[in-house]
Amino acid sequence: MLPEAGSPWLLQLLRNLQLGQFYQPILEELNVTRPEHFDFVRPEDLDSIGMGRPAQRRLAEALKRHRSGVKSKNWVYKILGGFAPEQKETTPPSLNPPTLPEPEGGLKCLIPEGAVCRRELLGSGCFGVVHRGLWMLPSGQNVPVAVKSLRVGPEGPVGTELGDFLREVSIMMNLEHPHVLRLHGLVLGQPLQMVMELAPLGSLHARLKAPAPMPPLPITLLCLFLRQLAGAMSYLGSRGLVHRDLATRNLLLASPRTIKVADFGLVRPLGGARGRYIMGGPRPIPYAWCAPESLRQGAFSSASDVWMFGVTLWEMFSGGEEPWTGVPPYLILQLLEKDRSRLPRPPFCSRALYSVALRCWAPHPEDRPTFSYLEELLQEAWPSEGRCVRDITEPGALQMEPGDSVTIIEGSPDSTTWKGQNGRTFKVGSFPASAVTLADLGGSSATHPVHRSSPARGERCRANIDGEREKEKPWDLPPAQGQRRKVSLQRMKGISKSLESVLSLGPRLTGGGSSPPELRRARAVPPGLQGLPPCPPFTSSSSQPSQPPRERPPRPKRELLHNHRINTPGASKATVPSGCLFPDPEWQRRIMEVELSVHGVTHQECQAALRTTGGDVVSAIRNLKVEQLFHLSSRSRADCWHILEHYQWDLSAASRYVLARS
Ligand code: ATP
Repeated sequence: MLPEAGSPWLLQLLRNLQLGQFYQPILEELNVTRPEHFDFVRPEDLDSIGMGRPAQRRLAEALKRHRSGVKSKNWVYKILGGFAPEQKETTPPSLNPPTLPEPEGGLKCLIPEGAVCRRELLGSGCFGVVHRGLWMLPSGQNVPVAVKSLRVGPEGPVGTELGDFLREVSIMMNLEHPHVLRLHGLVLGQPLQMVMELAPLGSLHARLKAPAPMPPLPITLLCLFLRQLAGAMSYLGSRGLVHRDLATRNLLLASPRTIKVADFGLVRPLGGARGRYIMGGPRPIPYAWCAPESLRQGAFSSASDVWMFGVTLWEMFSGGEEPWTGVPPYLILQLLEKDRSRLPRPPFCSRALYSVALRCWAPHPEDRPTFSYLEELLQEAWPSEGRCVRDITEPGALQMEPGDSVTIIEGSPDSTTWKGQNGRTFKVGSFPASAVTLADLGGSSATHPVHRSSPARGERCRANIDGEREKEKPWDLPPAQGQRRKVSLQRMKGISKSLESVLSLGPRLTGGGSSPPELRRARAVPPGLQGLPPCPPFTSSSSQPSQPPRERPPRPKRELLHNHRINTPGASKATVPSGCLFPDPEWQRRIMEVELSVHGVTHQECQAALRTTGGDVVSAIRNLKVEQLFHLSSRSRADCWHILEHYQWDLSAASRYVLARS
């Protein structure tokens, strides 16, 4: 489609301003045919057609006047102009840091529909499909592009998909950074299309997963990507934005050595004095990449992006593995917070780099490095380079030839065997330290420490987040009965889940009455409680549920569920078997009833809860729900009790309530 031949309003307006000579360039080069199109024109665009700044100001004034008399009826402009975050922290305006930056002018141009032709499909996302395409500039030049089209249903493009699509446009149109994917323009056609810079080599994730004979990526290149990413993220932070979906799948390869951050569908402006964005409702989030505060409260900030950066680093060095594979979403928060587990150090990742990741995974957002500091940390953790000085043919050793470059992954002066990557074959393995000279030691033999940074400064190491003791264990879950349960990988592959689903505490079990082994393990009973003593026989005097405890007990919040003794003023009338608990079918039935009524609790927790209530099922269920809510929020157990009571013991509803207010 060529620019509308007749745009008399424009000609008239320009003539009135004695700017008639710009009619043709504005129409043809900037593709402006309607007043609203000027929303997307930047001063630079007007500069490029030779319009001086005073003339631009006159034009802007005239447009304002013109538009105050002409209301746009186009839904696109209404939506593009009217974005508000789902929920921002509210603070007096003076305290607000810069949020979504005011557009300096907008899109480079609106692109006429006929100027873009789509070619093959590159992929598809939640609300759009992406094609390779060609954009024909008015000058006749053809630019390779990626065209993301809004998926249109039979009802047309409405609802959140349209909103998300346009939000992505409105955010991208203000960004300009060498490592942020560039938006060229928007096609206001059917379907609505975003015309973006093409990343011809696809996503980094796809490259990481590429099968042989594609060689693995050099470690130094991964470090370079990390540095580029930190720079791009620092830029986004400086624009008051949080990305929320940082992952290798959203890093695109513009060239073999250049990544670009893409997928701005989840980007939001940061608000409030604390520079956070709080999710307003249940929306899908990539839970395995998320920081604990995001999983717990739906809170996102630059610090939660830093957490995601750490997970992205982990992905890069794990060959594109999925973090926490096989761990149900509802367990991840527990692993991170209660068990303080962290993803393990991938085999190709040096200790120095892993310690950078661990800093990104500091439990408290304020303890995590900023992106600009991360750039420095990465520099310090940059792996040393060496050169092989002799043939290495020893069995089991990394095969190398004299002259091969080698990137050192592990090596210390007191060790005779080092680990590294051969720069010619890209294979990783161990080799005799004496066979390599270090490049940065002027060719001297490798007898000096090669790590520029030991575990990073100020690291708040805790037993199982220091990486060393966790070493090859991704999490604390042992194989259940010798073999880890085969969770439906298909289900786990869904990387984006709604926060609610992450927090709604797992699948409701439909049979067998036992929780998944992961859950059982993650909530394992401490040794002292493991062999539960036979329950003393007691008979309750009432079937009333136990009353809420009056105050928070002095135990730390991370206590295990059944470590907490709940007051039981009114125990059930049911008789608890005095001997072994298991043979009693009635007892088993009750356990199962409790288990089926409370998401994500273990068999043992149900037993313990039933014992505490003297076998009263209703009370046990309520107490367990109180515990669930207590662990989800910062409220006292008594509060949790009242909230649950208010919601008629609907845990999901109560959870939503506390999360929305935490
Ligand atoms: P979602 O948008 O649902 O979060 P997504 O990132 O998979 O998920 P898109 O951004 O729509 O979805 O991208 C779909 C696919 O197209 C991805 O596999 C991505 O690698 C590819 N792609 C997207 N943009 C480009 C681009 N500019 N150049 C090359 N490939 C691209």
